[in-house]
Amino acid sequence: MQLPPICGEGVIKSWEKCYACSNKDFTVWKNQSGATNLNFKDVLKLCSDGETRTLNFKSKDNKLYKGKLVINDEKQIVTIA
Ligand SMILES: [Zn+2]
Repeated sequence: MQLPPICGEGVIKSWEKCYACSNKDFTVWKNQSGATNLNFKDVLKLCSDGETRTLNFKSKDNKLYKGKLVINDEKQIVTIA
């Protein structure tokens, strides 16, 4: 089982619109930063490796691009193209 990055002890579950730690200190939206193919496995990899595989994103002006979700030193989720 993959432990969440903030508290390190909760359980990550899939909800309707997000994946979140049961201790409510870590949430990844299913369309985080416009991600279009983020899945549960990606979130588990984000927790274990600090980054996802290369994902597809759609920007606010409808441009498609590839990038990754990364957990930075402040334990925030950021997107790198
Ligand atoms: Zn947690």
